[in-house]
Amino acid sequence: MTDAFTDYLQAVLSERRLRHRYRQRRQLDSAQGPQVTVAGREYINFCSNDYLGLAAHPEVVTALRDATYQWGAGSGASHLVCGHSGEHHALESELAAFCGRERALLFSTGYMANLGVITALVGRGDTLLQDRLNHASLLDAGLLSGARSSRFLHADMDSLQAKLATARGRTLIAVDGVFSMDGDLAPLPTLAALAQEHDAWLMVDDAHGLGCLGPTGAGSVEHYGLGQAEVPVLMGTLGKALGGFGAFVAGSETLIEGLIQLARPYIYTTALPPAVAAAMRVSLRLVSREPWRRQHLQALIERFRRGAHSLDYSLMSSTTAIQPLVTGSDSSALRLTQALEAEGFLVSAIRPPTVPESSARLRITLTAAHSEQQVDDLLAALKRVRPVLQEGEA
Ligand SMILES: *Cc1c(COP(=O)(O)O)cnc(C)c1O
Repeated sequence: MTDAFTDYLQAVLSERRLRHRYRQRRQLDSAQGPQVTVAGREYINFCSNDYLGLAAHPEVVTALRDATYQWGAGSGASHLVCGHSGEHHALESELAAFCGRERALLFSTGYMANLGVITALVGRGDTLLQDRLNHASLLDAGLLSGARSSRFLHADMDSLQAKLATARGRTLIAVDGVFSMDGDLAPLPTLAALAQEHDAWLMVDDAHGLGCLGPTGAGSVEHYGLGQAEVPVLMGTLGKALGGFGAFVAGSETLIEGLIQLARPYIYTTALPPAVAAAMRVSLRLVSREPWRRQHLQALIERFRRGAHSLDYSLMSSTTAIQPLVTGSDSSALRLTQALEAEGFLVSAIRPPTVPESSARLRITLTAAHSEQQVDDLLAALKRVRPVLQEGEA
């Protein structure tokens, strides 16, 4: 009747339910955007990573449709077999130029890009140093690489320095440019200086900075005025501010040629559909052509923070589109999300193990597609539901 696997899974499920950590999906019945429909009801959406409002942009959608007619639905093979199309190649060149790098290489997802680049660069006898709050894909890449992998305290340069002192072999320092659950920026200038001092390479995963930060939208590295010399490995994703799907690594000619030879998640997987690459070329042009998207987003961030300060919530110091409100307990985060949902707002509750114990939070994300009114409405709702935080805490 039962077997070891079913027993194991059922134990996991009941433990998750008991601890308010059961993960469930919402089913959207509309395209991604500031307003979405879930189960027949319309919500204002404050949980997507579509930071510039490009996921359903008509020019991007048209490019995807037109390119599908021209290139078909799928790429048909991996890049190294016969799946590398002219659209992929053009997008790689444009991404490299956009980020001020010699070359760029497309990956199917950011998760795979991180696995690919880290396992290609470090292995047994090498050292990988990561911020404690790095994205799960970077942490997993460390395990897979076989390198001596260790995590320094979040944004703590003394902690990093202590680990650098005992590093062996090739040393790679990897950080999120913008931390995905806290929204703060990594101290890249100090990290770059330390890396240079110790003959290490610095890798930045800029999933949440690309498109949003820097004078031209090239991300957190550009924000700090750094380039390829200071940050030899730059990873960016196409599924967030660019509104599509996929990812890339940008850097020197040598890095990219090395990845093509070594990165298994690049070699052994089907290339993105060429039409997705074509659509992402249009997204990239919109990022460059319409700086108002970044400016409007920045104005909304400031508006939200000003409003939230007066509401007696614990706001983190983030200056980016990711604005977490820490509630502490898992159940209070859940109660708050449910209360907001009843008010017509979608906000995600983030609980351990995604974030450290006792730091459950609402992860509010703002996008350029939101209006000032929608932000004000969210603030008003946050004010109304505030008493929910006290309930059940006794
Ligand atoms: C989303 C994300 C990834 C993964 O990118 P996908 O393309 O969604 O696989 C990697 N790193 C960070 C910091 C992210 O936020």
